[in-house]
Amino acid sequence: MLVDTHCHLAAAEFADDRDAALAAAAAAGIAAIVVPAVDVASFTAVHACCRRYPGCVAAYGIHPLAVPQAGDGDLLRLKEWLQSVSAGADQPVAIGEIGLDLFVADPAIDRQVHFFVEQLKIARDRDLPVLLHVRRAVDQVLKQLRRVRVKGGIAHAFNGSRQQADEFVKLGFKLGFGGAMTYSGSTRIRRLAASLPLESIVLETDAPDMPPAWLAGGRNTPLELARIAALLAELRGIDASALASATSANARAVLPRLRLLERSGTLPPDGFGLPIFPHQ
Ligand code: ZN
Repeated sequence: MLVDTHCHLAAAEFADDRDAALAAAAAAGIAAIVVPAVDVASFTAVHACCRRYPGCVAAYGIHPLAVPQAGDGDLLRLKEWLQSVSAGADQPVAIGEIGLDLFVADPAIDRQVHFFVEQLKIARDRDLPVLLHVRRAVDQVLKQLRRVRVKGGIAHAFNGSRQQADEFVKLGFKLGFGGAMTYSGSTRIRRLAASLPLESIVLETDAPDMPPAWLAGGRNTPLELARIAALLAELRGIDASALASATSANARAVLPRLRLLERSGTLPPDGFGLPIFPHQ
């Protein structure tokens, strides 16, 4: 079984075929999917998605690229929302997607840092890991993580150096690998994916974004995690089933509530189970 640690399944891009996308992923062995929110407006859609599909678990946060549109009250709304979903299967597994993005033309860095740091504090206070979006900002993100100590999390779509990877690992993080690794030109990412200790790696699709090489330009879906996993097994020269069980164990280690939800029977251990869509 596989865990997709980052998939925007609640996004509008899946409005027409979410059931089919999930069923295809489940049939290919993807047993759990972490669905991060990107802004306050997306919280209800993420929540509804995770209620509908028992293999899906939520993360709530304000994405750095959503910061320009976010109001000052949105951090308070995030706190109130977390309070309202703090019981049973509604519980999020992480705060996310949060981070820093200095790739965009006008990153409004001070405001991004403010939202990032405040959300790190929320994660720390609630004892939750974080899902990080880090683009052209690895050292800036590490600096804030050293100031506000959270219990770890995942550096999603990791694209940094080996030394930076090691710094994340020291702070309790796993590194997310997905679509970018499938391009033969991504030599640095491929080298990292092949050489990092296996216990620091988790898999992700970031669907509908980051299509793998074989879907270049098209819409990504969680089904692609199976082929992404096979490719990583090949890069590392290990058996596909060993890769699957190791990366799933890593996901459970870094997102402890994923394990708890599984143990409580909310997540079937062998896939989405039957019926696949009990909330229908
Ligand atoms: Zn994302």
